[in-house]
Amino acid sequence: MGGGYWFGDRRLVMLRGTQEEAAVHELAHAWWDSQREAQRDALMDLLRELGARPPAEYPRIAELATVYCHGIKTQKDPSSPTGYWRGMLAEDNDHETFAGFCSGVMADAAQMPPALRAFYRGFLRT
Ligand SMILES: [Zn+2]
Repeated sequence: MGGGYWFGDRRLVMLRGTQEEAAVHELAHAWWDSQREAQRDALMDLLRELGARPPAEYPRIAELATVYCHGIKTQKDPSSPTGYWRGMLAEDNDHETFAGFCSGVMADAAQMPPALRAFYRGFLRT
């Protein structure tokens, strides 16, 4: 078992099992919900920049930003106009971007470039 859910309307995180990555990811969703109104456009702008110029000194974020900006051509998505998953940027999905970066580095803000790390201030030790 793994993964989990965040129920925004109930302010509740539920986990399927004891997967730490899922806990980090779902808690990030819960925290971002209170921040996103003011910061979502800035986060997506930064994602676009990171995808265009992946930061070599932050390899995990570079890898994630590339996928989030360009999608995965081998990952079928029948609901997508291209037939494959087009990525967070094309879907304008700030929630999964925020939570995905967070669980992608297992809440280790030191693995994020400073401009990205700033979005996690108050949530992670930065
Ligand atoms: Zn998620």
